[in-house]
Amino acid sequence: MRSQLLAATLLLAMAATPASADPLRDAVAKDMPSLLALYKDLHANPELSMQEVKSSAKLAAEAKKLGFEVTTGVGKTGVVAVMKNGPGPVLLLRADMDALPVTEQTGLPFASKVRVTTAAGVETGVMHACGHDTHMTTWLGTARRLAAMKDQWSGTLVMILQPGEEIGFGAKAMLDDGLYSRFPKPTHAIAFHDAAALPAGVIGYSNGYALANVDSVDIDVKGIGGHGAYPQTTKDPIVLAARIVGALQTLVSRENDPQSPAVVTVGSFHAGAKHNIISDNAKLQLTVRSYTDETRKLLLDGIRRIVRGEAIAAGMPEDKMPVVTIREGEYTPATFNTEKITASTAALFTERFGADRVIATPAVMGGEDFSRFWLADKSIESLIFWVGGAPKDKWDAAGGDAAKLPSLHSPFWAPDAEAVISTATEAMTAAALDVLKKG
Ligand code: ZN
Ligand code: ZN
Repeated sequence: MRSQLLAATLLLAMAATPASADPLRDAVAKDMPSLLALYKDLHANPELSMQEVKSSAKLAAEAKKLGFEVTTGVGKTGVVAVMKNGPGPVLLLRADMDALPVTEQTGLPFASKVRVTTAAGVETGVMHACGHDTHMTTWLGTARRLAAMKDQWSGTLVMILQPGEEIGFGAKAMLDDGLYSRFPKPTHAIAFHDAAALPAGVIGYSNGYALANVDSVDIDVKGIGGHGAYPQTTKDPIVLAARIVGALQTLVSRENDPQSPAVVTVGSFHAGAKHNIISDNAKLQLTVRSYTDETRKLLLDGIRRIVRGEAIAAGMPEDKMPVVTIREGEYTPATFNTEKITASTAALFTERFGADRVIATPAVMGGEDFSRFWLADKSIESLIFWVGGAPKDKWDAAGGDAAKLPSLHSPFWAPDAEAVISTATEAMTAAALDVLKKG
């Protein structure tokens, strides 16, 4: 009798706990059809930086239904959803919302057909080519889980939807609009980004620096124009600008400490109109990358010095010195993962997903304005991690060589959204529960 009862109890217990025996994973799996429907809707309706009106409204309404106190219009189109649930840490979870001026070529049935004319007058398609649609969907998936599991955590959740990441503007806009004064100030901050350089469902994280300082620099090289047949009567800005481009390479190769990564790329060089005219100006556009403040200063000071020095060498008069403009408004500071939360979350993920799905990845020279939430108060424990999106079959066919596959910002970037969203929702929820664990 007793053994019969025991067997029956065991059987019941087995029936109640399905194969994965993980209530969080099961709950995320149950929510996936709804989340994928949202993802496809967001993907088909992308919005450019600082214009995320429909996306933010859709998600704000969903967060309200879950019992969050929701404020919209923070930093123009940003959303702050707060859930207070007893004493404890204040955890900021962030998703970015903006899409890119890229004409989608994935051929997906829910591909974006949106077209716009940009402020610069360029007609272009709009696409979630950076995967911020997976971020927004995960944000809601995580909000749903944490709202449903309120008895399992204590503290305050500050879930934010950030506009304008692609232009390095949105995080600052939200902070300037009182993110840390009008709402509970975070003790911890977590975000994730989908990754083209990792197979679907694999999590990557970096200790310390994760992403770089990004500076945009314009150089307006002046010249004295004239006839191409009589160079002795001119000062040729193309020759001068070409010298500047060459000399700039020595900043990284000769002046910078090789132990401190740096990049100086001249991405645009425009001058002249015709074969036999010496132009009176040349315009260069640079992207400058570093991790530390010291390296950043070395590069930016070096650019100014080299540009002026080359102009003097070319015999340019003082009133025709090149003008160097560092676009401070577009500066994105380096993103730093703090030690404690990175170590504890990496250990948690490894236990939950297995060592083959959680790997330490090197820092990259890309940029992310998630950095600003930590820089505004360095006592915050902060972490951004990657969730691989490269579809497994394509990854295997490429022999694991990400360079053979579409990258982020590519018109062909079509992540395995199901793997990204389910992995990220589970990971974000588990990480949040760890930070906000009771007692
Ligand atoms: Zn991007
Ligand atoms: Zn992005």
